[in-house]
Amino acid sequence: MKTEPRTRILIIYTGGTIGMIEDPATKALVPFNFDHLIDNVPKIKMLDFDIDHYQFEKPIDSSDMDPAHWNEIARVIEERYDDYDGFVVLHGTDTMAYTASALSFMLENLAKPVIITGSQLPIGEVRTDGEENLITALQIAAEKDPHGGAMVREVAILFENYLWRGNRSTKRSADDFNAFFSNNYPELAEVGLSISYNNDALWRRPVSGPLRVHYGMDPSVVTLDLFPGINEATVRHILGTPDVKGVVIRTYGAGNAPTAKWLTEAVSEAVARGVVVVNITQCSNGSVLPKRYEAGRALSETGVVCGHDLTCEAALTKLMSLFGRGLTSREVKKYMAYSLCGEMTCNLN
Ligand code: ASP
Repeated sequence: MKTEPRTRILIIYTGGTIGMIEDPATKALVPFNFDHLIDNVPKIKMLDFDIDHYQFEKPIDSSDMDPAHWNEIARVIEERYDDYDGFVVLHGTDTMAYTASALSFMLENLAKPVIITGSQLPIGEVRTDGEENLITALQIAAEKDPHGGAMVREVAILFENYLWRGNRSTKRSADDFNAFFSNNYPELAEVGLSISYNNDALWRRPVSGPLRVHYGMDPSVVTLDLFPGINEATVRHILGTPDVKGVVIRTYGAGNAPTAKWLTEAVSEAVARGVVVVNITQCSNGSVLPKRYEAGRALSETGVVCGHDLTCEAALTKLMSLFGRGLTSREVKKYMAYSLCGEMTCNLN
């Protein structure tokens, strides 16, 4: 009788609170190694699948996360893609939503789970949330659909009671165990007594080929946050940042901005220089509706791209990824208007 091969999961440990210990001298939390982490999760042996791990040479606080680290994570996934059924990335919470967004754009044709998790309390602490998060992330990464394919085929964040689409997630709390939330997209799964998957929300677009990794990430991007009183010099300074290629402008409400002529002129000039300016809202929930108010229409006529309901993390990393592929401003603008991997709600996808 033919036996099914055992499920294999790879843990990629990058650092973060989950594996931290207290520095005896400063009393501050510092990243520590994977052996310490795993020694604190004896229950892992009860899982009925094979688990291997890869560790960053020097685990980091995720405040130090950068495109080179994203490349390392993506490279490990690409090199071992055929050997594993799923991947669990252990990561600090501070920049987890950026990494989840970045990986979603880097990993084209992903058809296996990449589940990112971490914790608010170190794994060595009695009340840690790390053990539960790690075990649940492993179970989700191993989960199959009724046809034997992967249940989750995208980059997702698992934290406490919910699984969220990675490029829709935002860190919403520095101390709540439910640290992440997706303001404009439903949960992919709810974790209670059982893990209940939201089939309508899971990514199911058929893949058009083998996994293709876009390693290039061009960090020549910046955000411009509007506030009442912002002046022309500040706006021009940000839009004129040397070598900047993409600007994410965080506007009010449904995509509105001051109607002052200097603002639309400054934005028009940046657009004319080839800078891709993307309009997203400062509201945590809802979408840009560029023509709803006169205050938004004027801005939209400068040639800014409507970012619909993109998170700031997704807008920035999508620009980084598109420019990193060597695309022209015109091409980047075109792709910013489409949802590439479920990152935004728009009529064009
Ligand atoms: N500073 C930590 C980090 O992002 C916070 C955490 O993991 O919760 O690495």
